[in-house]
Amino acid sequence: MPRPMDLQSSPAQKTSASLREIRRLCVYCGSSGAVDRRYREAAGELGTRLAAAGIGLVYGGGRVGLMGLLADAVLAAGGEVTGIIPARLRDAELAHPGATELLVVESMHDRKRLMAEKADAFAILPGGVGTLDETFEILSWKQLGLHDKLILLVDIGGYWAPLRALLDHIVESGFARPETRGLLRVVPSVAAVIATLSAEPGPSRQVDPGLL
Ligand code: AMP
Repeated sequence: MPRPMDLQSSPAQKTSASLREIRRLCVYCGSSGAVDRRYREAAGELGTRLAAAGIGLVYGGGRVGLMGLLADAVLAAGGEVTGIIPARLRDAELAHPGATELLVVESMHDRKRLMAEKADAFAILPGGVGTLDETFEILSWKQLGLHDKLILLVDIGGYWAPLRALLDHIVESGFARPETRGLLRVVPSVAAVIATLSAEPGPSRQVDPGLL
């Protein structure tokens, strides 16, 4: 099993790799807005800061919940939003009407594949089972060596403490190697997301759609 890219890079690799930039961030987050104010504020703050940093947003294309707040904030600050949504959800009028680009796909699987291809890195804000599904898929693809893109778990107010504990439990029980923890980087705030994206090189290779 390949080791995480974060642990593999030598200083020399880092220097040449830093010429690659993270230009588009895929954000997974809740479609519910009936949540703690801190989570709602984090979604808005991330959108504003992404636009200011010139980093485009790739996301599920919805107009509801944290997803909607995030996309609204990017657009209000003059940034670019690429929404990727299955036809069924668009037809249920859940698509964001203002997205710079709205890509309509057949299935949830197509959506997740395209989101992974289009982005240079991933960030996970608080969310529910849909967010967890996306998180574990992108994490397992990284564990299999199908991509080497940065994955940031944004632990606003400690929301993800149970998920972190579950990952520790999985490693301690022998179902994953200790290196698995390093496949996902925990950051405490939106400011730390932007600082990390600015400091990190982009991925060294694209997701190979043929392998997904
Ligand atoms: P959840 O965490 O269960 O609210 O699901 C949110 C995640 O699933 C998002 O990151 C989206 O990619 C996807 N998703 C769920 N509901 C929608 C929706 N109405 N429109 C677009 N994407 C959605």
